Amino acid sequence: MDVLIGENLHQLPADEVLQLLGTDAEKGLDILELQTRQARFGPNLIPAARGLGPWMRFLLQFHTPLVYILLAAAAITAFLHEWVDSGVIFAVVLVNAVIGFLQESSAAKALAALTQTTLTEASVLRAGEMRRISSTELVPGDIVFLQSGDKVPADLRLFHCRDLQVDESALTGESVPVNKQVDVMAANASLEERRNLAYTSTLVTYGQARGVVFATGASTEVGHISKLISTADVLETPLTLKIAKFSRLLLVVILGLACVTFLVGCLRGQPAFEMFMAAVALAVGAIPEGLPAAVTITLSIGVARMARRRAIIRKLPAVETLGSTTIVCSDKTGTLTVNQMTVSEILAGDSRYEVSGTGYGPLGEIKNLSEPGVALADNFAARECLLAGLLCNDSALAEKAGRWEVQGDPTEGALIASAAKGGLNQKESSAHFPRIDVIPFESQHQYMASLHEGKSPVGRKLYVKGAAEVVLSKSVAMLDASGRKVPLDSAAVHRQLESLAVKGLRVLVLASAELPGDVTSVTHADVNQLTFLGLQGMIDPPRPEAISAVRACQSAGIHVKMITGDHALTAQAIARQIGLNGGGGTARPEGPLVLTGRELAERSDAQLIDIAAQVAVFARVTPEQKLRLVRALQAGGHIAAMTGDGVNDAPALKQADIGVAMGVSGTEVAKEAADMVLTDDNFATIEAAVEEGRGVFDNLTKFIVWTLPTNMGEGLVILAAIFAGTTLPILPVQILWINMSTGLFLGLMLAFEPKEPDIMTRPPRDPKTPILTGVLIGRILLVSLVILVGAFGSFEWALGKGSGDAHARTVAVNVIVMVELFYLFNCRSLTKSMFQLGVFSNLWIWVGVGSMVALQLLFTYAPFMNWFFHSAPIGWDAWWRILLTAVVAHLIVGMEKWIRRKWTDRASVGVIVFTENKARGLER
Ligand code: ATP
Repeated sequence: MDVLIGENLHQLPADEVLQLLGTDAEKGLDILELQTRQARFGPNLIPAARGLGPWMRFLLQFHTPLVYILLAAAAITAFLHEWVDSGVIFAVVLVNAVIGFLQESSAAKALAALTQTTLTEASVLRAGEMRRISSTELVPGDIVFLQSGDKVPADLRLFHCRDLQVDESALTGESVPVNKQVDVMAANASLEERRNLAYTSTLVTYGQARGVVFATGASTEVGHISKLISTADVLETPLTLKIAKFSRLLLVVILGLACVTFLVGCLRGQPAFEMFMAAVALAVGAIPEGLPAAVTITLSIGVARMARRRAIIRKLPAVETLGSTTIVCSDKTGTLTVNQMTVSEILAGDSRYEVSGTGYGPLGEIKNLSEPGVALADNFAARECLLAGLLCNDSALAEKAGRWEVQGDPTEGALIASAAKGGLNQKESSAHFPRIDVIPFESQHQYMASLHEGKSPVGRKLYVKGAAEVVLSKSVAMLDASGRKVPLDSAAVHRQLESLAVKGLRVLVLASAELPGDVTSVTHADVNQLTFLGLQGMIDPPRPEAISAVRACQSAGIHVKMITGDHALTAQAIARQIGLNGGGGTARPEGPLVLTGRELAERSDAQLIDIAAQVAVFARVTPEQKLRLVRALQAGGHIAAMTGDGVNDAPALKQADIGVAMGVSGTEVAKEAADMVLTDDNFATIEAAVEEGRGVFDNLTKFIVWTLPTNMGEGLVILAAIFAGTTLPILPVQILWINMSTGLFLGLMLAFEPKEPDIMTRPPRDPKTPILTGVLIGRILLVSLVILVGAFGSFEWALGKGSGDAHARTVAVNVIVMVELFYLFNCRSLTKSMFQLGVFSNLWIWVGVGSMVALQLLFTYAPFMNWFFHSAPIGWDAWWRILLTAVVAHLIVGMEKWIRRKWTDRASVGVIVFTENKARGLER
């Protein structure tokens, strides 16, 4: 077989293409041929867009204003023959670049690894069997099945289409879905006009199709253009951008201050060289150069932690937004419930049946509660009800290691199991009533229909199953126990339906219609004039972990809402079991407030803002209404997370502040639109991600509050020295040493700080509030002043005692480092003391502290360090003063936090008393 590229395939009939590709539309490739082709074509992987090479990325580390300043300083000092200073500055620039490069690479690698975990799967026909495989295993000649929600896994020539619509925006930029077909196209048809081809990475938004793979990996259309796409800067979030902007502003201010320092010093008659070095020291010291890297690292650690807890972040800003989430709108089935369906009750032909047995196994009994003596086999309607559930079904059950599992949709699995308990076998029934055509289940239609060869030679039978409101509205008659058609008693059926739904059962309505013998296909228009056969009610218990996660969200000030396609009463019953109360207020004994899709459609957007905030359960909601709901919640000032799995959920997922897609049951379209994917579809995972998101933000704030006083303190020390006209207490190389070593060994350890125990009892963070509140700015100023007084004071003290410059500077450097080291323990929590947190709860801090102390001893006593950094050994008396300053600084901040804690406690007690009094007042 020649390698076929899609240049001419659109102009050939499908049969010819299949022949050219050496494959069979009914069987697919055989295993031997498959192996040959796999060896020849390799995996179906789009080569990653070639980003910048490692050398270029390394060189870019030097492309920052700070490094320009440092390089200029190094060049000028070299020009002035200050070789050691120049060498140290160069070395520091280099080390900084290496660290920046490594940090950036590991963060980017971590994120790239995450995208790998969300690889596409494909349904493929091989050796006559349908399989679900990773799309990387596809080869030219494979027969692939597409259905709504799929991502096209390779370039395909379609040979069977049913209303297929594909969103090709990934390829063409055109967001309106394209209708596909199988006919031959003109030779000169452009890429978009080749309607009989489907291209890799495009998304199926509607319908189904079958196609043959003609290009994989780099040979696909996307493979061609991916070489042209440069890698997006994935490491950016609103916060990193804000911090980059803040750093740039700071840079200008500091450079201005450095110039002023230089001029003031020169005007005062100080030597220009010394003033130049002072200006460099000020610039180098005051710029928080480690901040952007620390933010990226903390965010990527957060992403990795979330992945460990089964939440895959697809868009980095989500990590930040999660911490501010005020509302989580969750699907019911599979997210709040276990999605293990078991039919427990059947209502058909005037009889109520109880079905025993658990799981999907065929073991169990169907007991007639209405007429205990009458067997199910004698109730014609009940038998038809079971048969309809079995035939109008695209799933199967399989026994694996003694456990029955469903392959496909759990709702359908339950119907196969109930039919088996009634004595009906899926294989035999399918053979007896072969399927001719099908309308598959889609959320927006809420039913499925399948056309079968009838028992009588005259006609064919249409079986329908679906949501009660929809199927009953299309029914005109009902079957009685003897098999007679009688007029539909809609009120009675609704009463029966409600009696099941209030117990939290998912209810499916089964119906049928007789069609003429020559009908070969069915459309939605054919689904009417139905005969109601019966109801099957299935249990889907709440996930126990969802119950506690909902409680955790509520105590964290996050409202949880259920948005489901299921019946209002079923949804309300499950919501009650889970403990949903919507607005976060007290639970209503009659159950949470419910609004149905129909009621929702009657409300204006303005009305919806209030309603959306109060109502806890939205039932029979269409995906389009989900979009309206998210918009209403956002208009009410909420930060909303919304779950979804279907194709039509994509707009709502995109609109939500955090779009959450289901990793197991979700379509590729939903995953593509989402900010986060749950690998276990579990509500508890959303709660875990919110918790991690809060933790990330906490740790970022802690780092900023820790790092800024060093910069500010150092800047103040230099300014004070210039204005006082004394020698510099710290030299530029020493400042570089302090910033680099403390940033790496102290500050970075805060990124590993475990989450504080009360993290999920605080209200969500308002994204509009600045990272640094007044309290934190006050604390930063306080510590900066302590550094100024401590470093400057001990420098002058040492000089006064007759020490040389090197000795006095070593004392000053050690004061700054030790104050930072003790202050680090204060920064482990912004409010609590380290004893409340547990002294050893973050062992990384101790590793960092130990390393820092060792480094400082080297700095002070190792001759080569003395030579490099102009430091000198100091005695015990100096160490006592250094440690005393650091301890005093620690105690001052500790006191400040303690006072604030007491004050806040008292204030919150006051608020509670006030609120209670107010509530009592209102009640009266
Ligand atoms: P959620 O949005 O919480 O996941 P859901 O799974 O009930 O809720 P849909 O999948 O949209 O939402 O289903 C809506 C309704 O359609 C169900 O309540 C049920 O009555 C019916 N239904 C579900 N699955 C099928 C199916 N495979 N065939 C026919 N009808 C179905």
